[in-house]
Amino acid sequence: MSSSVPAERPQAPSAPVIPTVQTSEGLAYFNGAIVPMSAANVNVATHGLHYGTGCFEGIRGYWNAEHQRMYVLKLREHFERFNRSRHILRIKEQESVDQLSQITLDLLRRMQYHEDVYIRPLAFKAQRTIKLTLSALEDGITIYTFAMGNYVDISHGLHVCISPWRRVSGNAVPVRAKTTGAYINSSLAVDDAAAAGFDEAIFLTESGVVSEGSSCNLFILRNGQLSTPRPNDDILEGITRGCVMEMVQRELGMTVVERAIDRTELYDADEIFLTGTGVQISPVTKVDNCVVGTGNPGSFTMELQRRYLRAVRGDDPAYASWVTAL
Ligand code: PMP
Repeated sequence: MSSSVPAERPQAPSAPVIPTVQTSEGLAYFNGAIVPMSAANVNVATHGLHYGTGCFEGIRGYWNAEHQRMYVLKLREHFERFNRSRHILRIKEQESVDQLSQITLDLLRRMQYHEDVYIRPLAFKAQRTIKLTLSALEDGITIYTFAMGNYVDISHGLHVCISPWRRVSGNAVPVRAKTTGAYINSSLAVDDAAAAGFDEAIFLTESGVVSEGSSCNLFILRNGQLSTPRPNDDILEGITRGCVMEMVQRELGMTVVERAIDRTELYDADEIFLTGTGVQISPVTKVDNCVVGTGNPGSFTMELQRRYLRAVRGDDPAYASWVTAL
């Protein structure tokens, strides 16, 4: 990995603040009932706390001030993935996708937000035991929400590095499930990237091709072709990744190529962007010591971002099926 310091951006971005959740306020769905956030607690002996035996989702609700409505993005798809993750972890899927969706909408209604929110469903092995197993243990579940704007600066261009950490292998941990334990991998990579002066880390797979960011997928535009790593490059198959693939097909007639991407293609790309519930669509302007394209956020990326942000905020009727209006 290059050790050089990233060049200055055109304007210094202000880092978005990721809030600490207040336990003194708000509500949570917790093991079958909606309770005050202060009552949604687990014991220190809980299995999931010791072994990372849990799975989660991250969902966004976008407040549209003009419509005076909240639009929740891809609600069903997130709970479908949540239940697939629960299945892989042998956590009982007690609530159906419909029930989880209704609980979430109920929580949001009761919270009466007038701003963008983040929704965090979490399921875990709840038994107070040190036994190494996933089977025949009590399960726990929670869903809680909090106000949150941008997770990263989405307008100035991120500086990313190729992480010295490899993306956790699907032969070690099921990467298609969004398991809590796997995020030690992401947290280490993010911390090391930040210490080296970068905004985000890009993982390679154990076999050395580009996989994804710490909590986001990656696309490159090179020679007029939009490409993204394949599902078998140990990626989490992101819901935003799917949105982007649908949008470029519908609006530009462009098919995204899922293929193995080499590290040096990132150094030579015309544009790169990251996608995810957190990062939304974020341009990348530097990889290690290499400037991407002109060094400014690419025009293709920013146009896609503009269209995406209209769709998710309920401003584009063509994408009404993406959002659940509240
Ligand atoms: N990869 C990882 C490891 C993630 O945590 C996320 C965020 N859920 C993504 C990719 C992007 O997924 P999505 O677009 O569904 O948020």
